[in-house]
Amino acid sequence: MSLGQSSSDSSSGSSFGSSFVGNGPSVKKLLEMVKGSRIHQSLIFSGPEGVGKKKLALLWIQALLCEADKKSEVLSSCGQCGSCLRLLKGQHESLFVVEPSGLSIKVDQAKECIQFLGLRSLSKKRFILINEAQKLNVQASNALLKIVEEPPADSYFIFITSSLEAIVQTLRSRSQVISFGPLKPSELKQVQPDAEEWQILASMGSLAKLSDLESEDEQTLRKDSHRFLYTLLRGAFVDATDLSKPLIESSPKALKAISYICNAIVATLKNQKGLVPIELESLLVSQSPHILSEMLNSLLLLEKNILSNADKKIAFDHWVYQWNDQLFSGQ
Ligand SMILES: [Zn+2]
Repeated sequence: MSLGQSSSDSSSGSSFGSSFVGNGPSVKKLLEMVKGSRIHQSLIFSGPEGVGKKKLALLWIQALLCEADKKSEVLSSCGQCGSCLRLLKGQHESLFVVEPSGLSIKVDQAKECIQFLGLRSLSKKRFILINEAQKLNVQASNALLKIVEEPPADSYFIFITSSLEAIVQTLRSRSQVISFGPLKPSELKQVQPDAEEWQILASMGSLAKLSDLESEDEQTLRKDSHRFLYTLLRGAFVDATDLSKPLIESSPKALKAISYICNAIVATLKNQKGLVPIELESLLVSQSPHILSEMLNSLLLLEKNILSNADKKIAFDHWVYQWNDQLFSGQ
């Protein structure tokens, strides 16, 4: 569950959201709901992946269930009481978490939610957290619809999704949507102080993506992509076709490699220094902006070919030959 967001908020006592980075307005909205005792019984946390939606939902549930004596009005969790400890261990009797089983959330899982809400032995408040709610299939959505419309007292649904449109309209219209956005570069830096500039830019505001980018495989792929482009720009096209081999081991890898190459070109066009190795940077700078834009267009085409399952080796080689011709045929 750790997406790099600090967990000190949950394991030791603190006010809700105080150590959650990013999406301040969403945190505020949740706090206002509690303050005004107007907690909507069906919430949808909607926004890009890897920004901490599930994390914040769990922090919120923890704070609402915390059993410690609260001196102030501020919503907080102690991190020490039985309730907090059970929640942190993922064993809280008042929380039912649903994750997709395979590609979808099925009707049996929806029925389990309804059963859970019917249990009498439970303490007052109970929560159902449905992760990746865009994967609810039609039958599951329909099964939940009635209970979401008329939920039992003190029962709360939180649907978490990266694709609001994929949730059936009838469920959406009965819920309050809390929107999340990507994290700002400064917020990403706050969570991952060691992240490099290029990683911050390439992560597009997602902490999950930022963690991915810090992996060794990812660093190697990026280096290989740069070496490939550098070799092509130097006119060593046979070497370039050779260097494409590690980039095309799989389609996802090939697509990432293309995006690293695109990012290098975009950085040059935008005059952003220091994002690619200096030797590559100077070769890119020596090309005209027109050529660089053309190159970007041809990379988008290459990406399209990979997405439509073209032979990766042929597609990359074709791209190399095309650019070798374009850059060096007059020499
Ligand atoms: Zn507590």
